[in-house]
Amino acid sequence: EVPDPKGPGPDRGDAPGPDDGDALVVLRRVDKHFGTLHVLRSIDLTIRRGEVVVVIGPSGSGKSTLCRAINRLETIDSGEIRIDGRPLPAEGRELARLRADVGMVFQSFNLFAHKTVLDNVTLGQIKVRKKDRKAAEERARTLLDRVGVAAQADKYPAQLSGGQQQRVAIARALAMDPKVMLFDEPTSALDPEMINEVLEVMRQLAQEGMTMVVVTHEMGFARSAANRVVFMADGRIVEETTPDEFFGNPRTARARDFLSKIL
Ligand code: ADP
Ligand code: MG
Repeated sequence: EVPDPKGPGPDRGDAPGPDDGDALVVLRRVDKHFGTLHVLRSIDLTIRRGEVVVVIGPSGSGKSTLCRAINRLETIDSGEIRIDGRPLPAEGRELARLRADVGMVFQSFNLFAHKTVLDNVTLGQIKVRKKDRKAAEERARTLLDRVGVAAQADKYPAQLSGGQQQRVAIARALAMDPKVMLFDEPTSALDPEMINEVLEVMRQLAQEGMTMVVVTHEMGFARSAANRVVFMADGRIVEETTPDEFFGNPRTARARDFLSKIL
């Protein structure tokens, strides 16, 4: 069965501090190397239920690795990551369920090329969430309608525009009833005229209370939709504050330098 994302979490025992209350994703002292490259340096981050956290920072600062670690597409060297009070499972069915709880949308749309749009949004529900096909298809059509691509249900991904494909990818992740959605530069590969249709779907999700981690260079989205901005550089969280504070009054030279280049 699908856990209710707004319902009470599992027993968190006596874990103190930010692991309590509304914390949904908790990273504590997370470190990650690729060989000699230290890509995540003692990352502490708490994402609360319903929060929208935008992660920004220069290329190579570790933003994608951070997202991939939360979804356990990358292992970490040390530290701890908890989703809804539970440590990340290492493998097997538990891991598949975790990945369903943590929806992920990538820069490259990552749809199954040889499956129709409808199948793309249906299959995970059947395989991981154990729904029957009829219920899964019904839910898929509802979600495709919500992201504005209902008319494309029987097409293959290659027949869709980039913006449409990315909206299908969002619908596919949502079909698993995730507790949190991770977006890793979801509009970076899109032609400019398609960026807004994807951001609009994300804005709507945010308004509906979805917990979201969004890596993006779209500063308009960060300003209007984020509760918090996390600025990363060289594998560290350098600033973590409100969008107003970050854009209006960045505290570090690193952030000021970054903003001067992109704004
Ligand atoms: P960002 O998303 O902020 O651009 P990444 O998390 O993709 O940064 O990468 C952080 C650093 O780790 C970069 O220097 C990148 O080249 C390196 N890196 C990422 N993935 C791998 C990998 N699989 N193997 C080796 N180095 C990697
Ligand atoms: Mg990246």
